Amino acid sequence: MNTPKRYTITAALPYTNGPVHIGHLAGVYVPADIYARFQRLKGNDVLYISGSDEHGVPITIKAKKEGITPQQVVDKYHTIIKKSFEDFGISFDNYSRTSAEVHHETASGFFKKLYEDGKFIEETNQQLYDAEANQFLADRFVVGTCPKCGNEESYGDQCENCGTSHNATDLINPKSAITGNVPTLKETKHWYLPLDQYQEWLKEWIVEGHKMIGSRMYWDK
Ligand SMILES: [Zn+2]
Repeated sequence: MNTPKRYTITAALPYTNGPVHIGHLAGVYVPADIYARFQRLKGNDVLYISGSDEHGVPITIKAKKEGITPQQVVDKYHTIIKKSFEDFGISFDNYSRTSAEVHHETASGFFKKLYEDGKFIEETNQQLYDAEANQFLADRFVVGTCPKCGNEESYGDQCENCGTSHNATDLINPKSAITGNVPTLKETKHWYLPLDQYQEWLKEWIVEGHKMIGSRMYWDK
């Protein structure tokens, strides 16, 4: 008898700023579920994992709009999303949340290891800042006019009208999504991981070493 192979299967973590809809299910959770069930039927050792992502900017914005705390937003939608997956029969072996202690430990473990090995590039640059809210304004915290098509409600990272990606500092008449104030530029330090340095072996690892993932990548093209 063949020894069962071990498979770890995952699907993109849904943001807890709203319920999942049919597009989420069709796009990732059902295809991954089919694959998990197929491997289990073959007698392989399968772990199908996912969880609610509780750390997104849209969650904070939703909380401010509804006048509740981000914790109340994530608790509400985590419960709804988890129940939807159960009702649709998505066969997760573990559906968790990014607020779990084990997730904090693992995620900061990755960061610390890379930091200690000097893999990051540190850069100080100017970012939009809301003095009243006392915080820097990342991508979705900024709205303004798209420099390309003139859409007055473009987000800081992307215009949903023309599809162009841009930096928040490119927006004309930028406004804070939190207070509506005009933001100012302030210095801030960031850590960048130069992924292009790892392109060669990553490509080898994915395309040659893990053909199943590679074939999916080509199929997507
Ligand atoms: Zn645009």
